[in-house]
Amino acid sequence: MTNEYKEYLKSKEWSEIRLEIIKTRKKCERCGSKKRLQVHHITYKNIFNEEPNDLELLCSGCHKAEHGIKKPVKKKRVKPKKKRKKTKKETWQSILKKMP
Ligand SMILES: [Zn+2]
Ligand SMILES: [Zn+2]
Repeated sequence: MTNEYKEYLKSKEWSEIRLEIIKTRKKCERCGSKKRLQVHHITYKNIFNEEPNDLELLCSGCHKAEHGIKKPVKKKRVKPKKKRKKTKKETWQSILKKMP
């Protein structure tokens, strides 16, 4: 990302475009969520002069996914259970058998 682009994202022009996209499309184009909407650039080729097709309205989750930012999936560590050795209870009989 260039500084120019970062500045552009803070500009009034961009905020107007952004609001317009949010107003017209209303929801995430991937999952339909209406929360935390963000405008994603499908292509940067027309940056500073975007066409509607260059932009996609995404919720923050889909947007992050689009940029490959995924929440680290917490894997539950399964502790290997210690196998209890089943010891056969020695009966008096078996003990007696072992005796010489
Ligand atoms: Zn979404
Ligand atoms: Zn994006």
